[in-house]
Formats: sequence, C-alpha cells, structure tokens
Amino acid sequence: MNKFTYFHEKVEELKDSGVYRTLPVNYGPCTNVIELNHKRVINLSSNNYLGLANHRRLKEAAKQAIDKYGVGAGSVRTIVGNQDILEELERALAEFKKEEAVVCFQSGLNCNLGVIPAITEKGDLIVSDELNHASIIDGVRLSRADKAIYRHADVAHLAEILNEKAGLYNRIFIITDGVFSMDGDIAPLPEIVDLAEKNNAFVYVDDAHGSGVLGAGGRGTIDHFHLNGRIDFIVGTLSKAIGVIGGYMATKTKVKEWLLHRARPLLFSTALPPSAIAATIEAVKILSESEELTKKLWYNAIYFKKGLKQLGFDIGNSKTPITPVIIGNEALTMKFSQQLLEQGVFVSGIVFPTVPLGKGRCRVMLSASHTIDDLDFALKAFEKVGKKLNII
Ligand SMILES: *Cc1c(COP(=O)(O)O)cnc(C)c1O
Repeated sequence: MNKFTYFHEKVEELKDSGVYRTLPVNYGPCTNVIELNHKRVINLSSNNYLGLANHRRLKEAAKQAIDKYGVGAGSVRTIVGNQDILEELERALAEFKKEEAVVCFQSGLNCNLGVIPAITEKGDLIVSDELNHASIIDGVRLSRADKAIYRHADVAHLAEILNEKAGLYNRIFIITDGVFSMDGDIAPLPEIVDLAEKNNAFVYVDDAHGSGVLGAGGRGTIDHFHLNGRIDFIVGTLSKAIGVIGGYMATKTKVKEWLLHRARPLLFSTALPPSAIAATIEAVKILSESEELTKKLWYNAIYFKKGLKQLGFDIGNSKTPITPVIIGNEALTMKFSQQLLEQGVFVSGIVFPTVPLGKGRCRVMLSASHTIDDLDFALKAFEKVGKKLNII
C-alpha cells in the first residue's frame, strides 16, 4: 500500500465535510488595504492593531540592525545567540510593562510551550479557563502538573475548584488569557487575583491580544485593571500589536533566572533575528513616546462597532477592538465572508471547531491603520451583504 494513502484519505475527508481550504496569498505588506489573491481588499482580519507591521521607523531600524548584526542570531541564546540588542529589548519591555524582568521567546506560542512546563511540576495543579488559547492548552499538555478547567470567565466556578482541590497540591497556577481572541471579552482579573491571593496561588495571564491595545499607551490588560506587580507571569506577543514577531514573559528576576536554565525554546531553538529585535525596540519606543496609535485604534474600533450595531448586527460581548459579527449557522457564516470579499472587504469566517457549533462568526479586527473611508466602505458592504442574506 502507498504510504501516503492515509493523507489522501484525510484530505478527502476534509473536502467531504466542507472544511478544506487553500491559503489566501497576500502580495504585499500587511496594511489597511492588501492585495489578497491579486484583489485589492480592505483588510479587516489582521492582528496588526497599531499598523506597526509596515511602519517606516520599524523598517528603518530593522535595516540598520541587518547592517550591524547580520540576518541571523546564529545560535540558541544559551550558546552565542544572545546578541546585546536582545538584552536591550528585554530591559525596554520590562520598563514598559513596569515589571521586574522580561524573557523574550521566538513567538508567543513558543513562550507558552516553553514556560508552562518549566515552572510547574508533578504535585502542582494548573487551573485553566476553558477558552484559553491553543498554545496554553499545549503548554499544559507538556507539563507534568495535573489540570482542572473552569467555565469561561466564571469566577464562582474557579473558586469552587480551588476550595475543593487547593489543599491537595503543592502549588496552584491559575492560567487565563487577558483578552479572549474569539469574542474580544476581557478576563475578570481583579476577582481572579483576589481568589489567587486568598489561596496562595500563582496567576499566569497570556495577554497577547491586550498588549498594545488595553491600558495606558497599550501596556496591557494588567495595566488596564491597575494590577501591576500582582500578576506573577505575564505573556505578551511581539507579533500582534507590536507588528513584528516574538513573544515574552514578564515576571520576577528569579523566575527569569530559572527560565534561562529550563525553558526549552531558549535552550533548543535559535534566538530571534536582529532585524526583528531592532524593529521591536523601535515599536516600544513609539508606544512609550505617545498614545496616538492606541487612541486611533480605539477611535476606529468604537466607530466601526457603532456602525455595525446601528445596522442591526449581533456583535456579542466584545470589550476590545476584536469584533465578532455573530451569524450562527456555519455555512451562512462562510457565505457571508465570501460575499464580503466579492465586495472588496476581507473578514475571515470562523466556525466550529474553533468556536462552538452554531456560533459561527465573521471576526472583524480593527486597526489604527484604517481610515474612516475604509471603515465606511466596509460598513456599506456589511449592509449590502447582510440584507441580501437576510442577516439584518
Ligand atoms: C496569538 C496568540 C498567541 C501566539 O502568539 P504568536 O506570537 O503569534 O505566536 C498566544 N496566546 C494568545 C492568547 C494569542 O492570542
């Protein structure tokens, strides 16, 4: 038998169940308007919240770093890959986040995969929100600790689990996203921190979608709630609002020392390239200098959400620029996304199993890079397609 028959059959299964896809191709930078599959469309689906992915200052910093440092780190950090600008970036991020220390990883996903197994061991319990990001789920799988799952953002359920189990374990780690990527809602961090402090538990917040978006100048969900210093582990990504690539853990200096010995992505995977590091340093400078970009992001988000609501769309319970336009039926969701594309607006359709069955949605991601003309154009397309498909 051909050894690849398995994959042929698996791909046929995807096609039969209507979920097979090919990847759209973007022929230029990630900006407000992109050339997707050779068609110019308004881009309402990136995580480039602040428009930094194609920012002049970041590009210039990256080019200069290439001239000075080359294109690759050449090694893992623990050997010779720890270039001085990476240490500079870690200091800049720690200062920006108002935390003791920062450790950078090659991506946000990589950070969760590396940190969770490194800080936990057998005899510990991880208590995790049911809607946490896939990289947390995978990090928990790699850990030798036991796990318990609490209902999404349900502090009473979390308390119940802690009451029942806290006494049975050496250490407890509560892990949650700061901002949830599919619904745009924010974790109830003040209540979670209170519970954690009562139970002597650690709190671990993955703030990938909060960094650069919430808090003063984009300092994140922790800053938004004025909880600086009370969260033990804060994950941020450099790939979303920051516009480049990479992830980081903001934590105590002693934890950083431990991670430099035990977090496997630091030991077994090459360090970030100098161009990405330099661009990120420039991004942190821009955010520290002015709140202009975060203000523009929020202006656009509020403007667009209001427009969608006025048209009669269900935009769920979002508290951030992530805006789910909830359609429900899976096929109708994909049809809505397809017809928006025909109108020149790209919004990805998201359906089961990424979100629960019957909760299909087109997820709009606003950015500071959008102009009001872009948003008005998109709202017209939403109105036209929404009426045609009897959604509004
Ligand atoms: C996007 C995301 C990540 C992954 O970040 P990358 O830097 O893109 O790898 C991790 N956690 C959460 C909650 C995310 O939304």
